[in-house]
Amino acid sequence: MSYLVLARKWRPQTFDDVVGQEFITLTLKNAILSGKLAHALIFSGPRGVGKTSTARIVAKALNCINKNEEELMCSGKLCSFCSEISEGTSIDVQEIDAASHTGVNDVREIIDNVKYLPSSAKMKIYIIDEAHMLSQAAFNALLKTLEEPPGHVLFILATTESHKIPATIQSRCQKYDFKKLTVSEISDKLRQISADESIEIDSETISTIAKEADGSIRDSLSILDQVIATCGNKIEYARTIEILGLLDKTHIYDLLKFILGKDPKSAVEILHNVIKHGVIHNKVADEIVNIIRNAVMVKICGKESSLDLSDDEVKELEILTLENSVEDLEMLFSLAIENAENVHKSSFQELSLESMVIKLATTRNSIPINEILGKVTSLAKKISSEPEVVEETIQPIENNRPENKKSVPNKKKTNIVLEEPPLIVEEELVPDPEISTEPEKIKEIPHVNRNETFPEFVRKQNAILGVHLDKAISISEEESDIKILFNENNINFEYLHRKNSIVSLKSHANEYYAKEMNIRIDFKEQEKKISKDNPGKPSIKDDNAVKDALSIFDGTILKTKAVKKE
Ligand SMILES: [Zn+2]
Repeated sequence: MSYLVLARKWRPQTFDDVVGQEFITLTLKNAILSGKLAHALIFSGPRGVGKTSTARIVAKALNCINKNEEELMCSGKLCSFCSEISEGTSIDVQEIDAASHTGVNDVREIIDNVKYLPSSAKMKIYIIDEAHMLSQAAFNALLKTLEEPPGHVLFILATTESHKIPATIQSRCQKYDFKKLTVSEISDKLRQISADESIEIDSETISTIAKEADGSIRDSLSILDQVIATCGNKIEYARTIEILGLLDKTHIYDLLKFILGKDPKSAVEILHNVIKHGVIHNKVADEIVNIIRNAVMVKICGKESSLDLSDDEVKELEILTLENSVEDLEMLFSLAIENAENVHKSSFQELSLESMVIKLATTRNSIPINEILGKVTSLAKKISSEPEVVEETIQPIENNRPENKKSVPNKKKTNIVLEEPPLIVEEELVPDPEISTEPEKIKEIPHVNRNETFPEFVRKQNAILGVHLDKAISISEEESDIKILFNENNINFEYLHRKNSIVSLKSHANEYYAKEMNIRIDFKEQEKKISKDNPGKPSIKDDNAVKDALSIFDGTILKTKAVKKE
């Protein structure tokens, strides 16, 4: 005898056998019991969730001549109607595949037969599978019959795409929406079937198959069949994922670990290892999206997250995401979805996948807005509490430099961090290469105990200050003064000339030279002269800040007014 596939062998035979559609089976049972079942039903939902099986069960419940009250059909030895319907050989219960009978003539045949009484059963039942495939003409022909069929006829339209069924048809039918099954619902069924079939299989493998089935019990049984065909009755996890071209769970968790740990090198190593073992690229991309999604959900809801995760998995995700905020994970989640789509579409899937992993493992963490606001507020407070004149303060020079310099900067660094809100991510703060490649400028002040120049030191501490400092034409050190000279009164001069910039520069200078330094910022005498002699010149229009403002606001200068600088 030929092998009967599990999906057929274990096809649900009673309402209670149907997995995961309790609400529908209960409603149908009640409707049949009370004799209030409509004469046309639509069973809609994803593939392999029990639509056609339920339609057959309804047919049995209506035609069984040996009903038991629980199941509304015979249990144990089947009556002739039940057994014929189960086998699909009943003359009065017809299953029509609309995918291959789409035309109006196929429907005419049904309509012509509807008026005849059933041959032996109580009800004549038409189960139209993939009903959305019927042509418009076929639907139109069916319309009248669906509205007022003879009392002995029931239509059940099963469809995976109910939106394609015309509204005129839908309004004449009672609709039942079958849901996708959860991993645990499928797992429970697989466990029960495996036990009955004497198949040795562990729970990890069962849940892997259940996840792979994507909500379809029929698909899960087909996968199990496929694995049995290779492994026999002793199924191992490692062999299963190999057969299905899936990613090992430990690899997925390792990938997540390296992505969260910003370790692109290790992440790519894992990826290459996985690809080498023949895992399908799309599946790797999907698994990455999935694990990040799980991480977000666990971060938000903890154990209460409605995911099909074991306690161990929840715990592992909690540990892995300890250092990450929900915002960071959400950002990764969006990025992963976007990139996984690219992998699916790409002609260079392996490269796209590499790019995806690298992007995810190099994405910088976001700074929560509250933290930024907090720093801005503390900065504002600090500025308002600073003494008015900073530049002119003359401090005695410290003769004894501290032996251990590191201890000094450390102390000050905490202050420095607060002085500039980290509004801009590091990447954006890299100084313009144009600036640093201008050789004629004298900026470098080598210092005995430093490998870096003062501007370099400042750039490291505060990239924004560094960018402006780089625009200076000279930076010179004289006693305890640092003179920063600009070519003209430009935006860089303006920025560094601000009180809080000077405070920051001074603090960096004190740290760099390990003594009290004063900061003097100026622009060329020549420029000053011109501006003094001709107040209207050099035209305010030439000022970079003004130029920017004009272009941003698309404005014109109506009036210029001299403002006395502090
Ligand atoms: Zn029966």
